[in-house]
Amino acid sequence: MIIVMSEGATAQQVDAIKQRLEKEGLQIHLSQGVEKTIIGVIGDKSRLSASTLEAQPGVEKVMPVLQPYKLAGRSFRQQDTIIRIGDVAIGGEELQIFAGPCAVESWEQLLESAQAVKAAGAKILRGGAFKPRTSPYAFQGLEEQGLKLLAQAREETGLLICTEVMDTRSIEIIAEYSDILQVGTRNMQNFHLLRELSRVNRPILLKRGLSATIEEWLMAAEYIMAGGNYNVILCERGIRTFETQTRNTLDLSAIPIIKSLSHLPIIVDPSHGTGKRNLVRPMSMASVAAGADGIMVEVHPNPAEALCDGPQSLRPEEFVSLMDDLRRVAGVMGRTA
Ligand code: PEP
Ligand code: MN
Repeated sequence: MIIVMSEGATAQQVDAIKQRLEKEGLQIHLSQGVEKTIIGVIGDKSRLSASTLEAQPGVEKVMPVLQPYKLAGRSFRQQDTIIRIGDVAIGGEELQIFAGPCAVESWEQLLESAQAVKAAGAKILRGGAFKPRTSPYAFQGLEEQGLKLLAQAREETGLLICTEVMDTRSIEIIAEYSDILQVGTRNMQNFHLLRELSRVNRPILLKRGLSATIEEWLMAAEYIMAGGNYNVILCERGIRTFETQTRNTLDLSAIPIIKSLSHLPIIVDPSHGTGKRNLVRPMSMASVAAGADGIMVEVHPNPAEALCDGPQSLRPEEFVSLMDDLRRVAGVMGRTA
């Protein structure tokens, strides 16, 4: 249930309600809006009466939350969530572009990619150090060495780092090196991982599971938020369908649906969503036109030699031209890139 405090409610009134709920052993989540404070209440509410709560000073109304995702849903927060890391805002007027190679392969490859995406205007460098590969014989990533290279690339370029965390064991070390922790499609319902990430002081980029419904995806976000980490960025990356022309089927309708159901920012990954370089540009433009808050794109200095996902990686010059196109669509949407 949520308790909507009235516009003029004082901090003491909010506190008094909080204490009353905590005494009943309930979990409290506060959402401080521009005008109103909303208190999200989770737990066994059988001993509370809505009408008694409604009679308390400063309370405007008490409402049940019908959606199963209590904190990720719009009823908990009406305004869009904007996640700020330094001077980069995700979910605001400016689109954020996450770009870089699929995997960190070497210092030269990473630095060249980082410099190229930075020069084109991206602010976040992506790159996997721990790679979830379908085959155990494929390149698995440089692991800790890869994290060190990412941190070094941040030193050199000032880009923020986003890299994937595959298991609970490596959370601590990845959080030490990376600004944003990515949960890959295969791990979207790894609930132990999500729970641990709810206690990490880093934003989480949560990719949609390859066979996940939008509700399951929002419930995965809820796991992270329920433990206190409200900084979740959703990423649509395509789902598995019967279609074979593309690696996945990029579900662009998820963008306006998420925007109506949730306050969380959503970006789109057209690289994994299509698996094809020539589809990255049109799908990126369509994503922005559909309301995405940014995109994640694979860029490699030499895709033909890439150890991972070369066929879907843009060359640096293709990325420059994509950024130009994105700026134009952003303008139409009243945004910047
Ligand atoms: C990635 O972005 O590196 C990745 C492995 O993506 P996904 O989890 O969407 O397959
Ligand atoms: Mn990849």
